[in-house]
Amino acid sequence: MRASTRAASTDVPTSGGSHLMATYKPAPVRFVSGSGCWLIDDDGRRYLDFLSGIAVTSLGHAHPKVAAAISAQANELLHVSNLFENDLAEQVAARLDRLVGDGSDLGGKVFFANSGAEANECAIKLARRFGGRGRHEVVSGFGSFHGRTLATLHATGQPAKHEAFAPLPDGFRHVAFGDLGALESAADPTRVAAVLLEPIEGEAGVVVPPSGYLRAVRQMCDERGILLVLDEVQTGLGRTGRWFAFQEEGILPDVVTVAKALGNGMPVGACWARAEIASCFVPGDHGSTFGGQPLALSAVRATLDTMVELDVPTRARERGAQLVAALSALPGVREVRGRGLLLGVVLEAGLDAAAVVSDALRAGLVANAAAPDVIRLAPPLVVSAEECDEAVAILRSVLERASVVR
Ligand SMILES: *Cc1c(COP(=O)(O)O)cnc(C)c1O
Repeated sequence: MRASTRAASTDVPTSGGSHLMATYKPAPVRFVSGSGCWLIDDDGRRYLDFLSGIAVTSLGHAHPKVAAAISAQANELLHVSNLFENDLAEQVAARLDRLVGDGSDLGGKVFFANSGAEANECAIKLARRFGGRGRHEVVSGFGSFHGRTLATLHATGQPAKHEAFAPLPDGFRHVAFGDLGALESAADPTRVAAVLLEPIEGEAGVVVPPSGYLRAVRQMCDERGILLVLDEVQTGLGRTGRWFAFQEEGILPDVVTVAKALGNGMPVGACWARAEIASCFVPGDHGSTFGGQPLALSAVRATLDTMVELDVPTRARERGAQLVAALSALPGVREVRGRGLLLGVVLEAGLDAAAVVSDALRAGLVANAAAPDVIRLAPPLVVSAEECDEAVAILRSVLERASVVR
C-alpha cells in the first residue's frame, strides 16, 4: 500500500526510496527554470548562478537564440545517423576550426561526440593510431580530470579514483602538473604517443601552471615527435578570456578537446585535430550513433555564433578582472587564482569551502567547492558588472560569518 502510494506520487522520494544510482550527493535545492544568470527553485526563489552547471551555460540559461535554434531543429529533423552526409556538421566543424585558430582557418578536422569524456576518448584513440603499436602511452598531469570512462578515468591523475575500478586500460602515466623536468623524464618517445593536459586544472581547484609551461611542453613534444593534446573541455570557448586557454601562450596543440560550453547545455563534445594527425583515422576506426546529430549541432551553431557576436572572451577578461580584485579583498580569502571567468577562491586555513558553498546557496548564490579549501566560480560569460557585485556581496556576508565562527 505504502509502496504504491509512493510510486504514484510525483514527489521526488527521499534517498532511501530513490530510483537513482547513488553516484551524486545533490544539494537540497530543486531548480525548475532559469533565465540569464538566474535560477529559480520550486518555491519561486531566485539564485545567482555562478557555476553555470559547471562551466556549461556560458550564454546563460534559456538563451533565446539557442532555444529558438533547438526548437526549430526539433520541428525539422532530430537525427539520421552518420551513415549520411551532414551539412550542419561541416558548418559547425569549420566554425570550431576558426576558433581554435583564433580567427584564422587552420584546415583542422573535427569529430563530434556527446560529452567531454567521449571527446577525450577520441583524442586517446587518435594518439594510439598516430603512435602505432608499442608507442601508445599517454602522459597526463596529477590532479587532472579527463572523464569517467575507463580510459579517461585512467588518464585522470587522481589515483584514489582508480583503485575501485582496476584493472584500467593500460598505457597511462602521470607527472606533477606544471613541472617540465618531470614531464621530460616521463616522455620517452619510443613509448609515449601523446601528452594530455588541461591548460588549467579545473576540477583540481583551478590550478594554473607556471607561465611558459605549455610553450615549453609544446617545444618538447615537437623535438620528440609526441602529440600535444589539450583538454579544453572546461577552459575552452572564451571561459579563460581567450577562445582557448592555450592561445594565452601563443602555441597550437595537435589535438584539442571541447565539450561543456559547446552547446550551452545541450550534451555535445568535439575533438579537433590538425589535418595531418586527423588523417591517422580511416573510416571504421571511430564512431558514435548520436555524435554530430542535427539537434545537438543546431545548439552548437547558435551557441558559437552568439559567442562570436558577443565577443565572450573579452567579457570574461573584463568581469574576471573585476571579480579577482573584489574577491581578493574579502575576509578569509587567501588567494584568487584562475583566468577570465574560471576562478578558484582559495580560503584561509580553518575555513571549509563546502560549508561556505552551502551557506552561499542558502543566501542565493550557486557555486561549488572544487577542493576542500577552494570555491570554484564559473559564472555565465554574459554576467553583468552588477551581478558580479551582487555575488561578491553574498560571499562577503557568508565569509564574514564563517570567519567569526572560526
Ligand atoms: C568535465 C570535464 C571532462 C568530462 O566531461 P564529461 O562531459 O563529464 O564527460 C573532461 N575534462 C575536463 C577538463 C572537464 O572539466
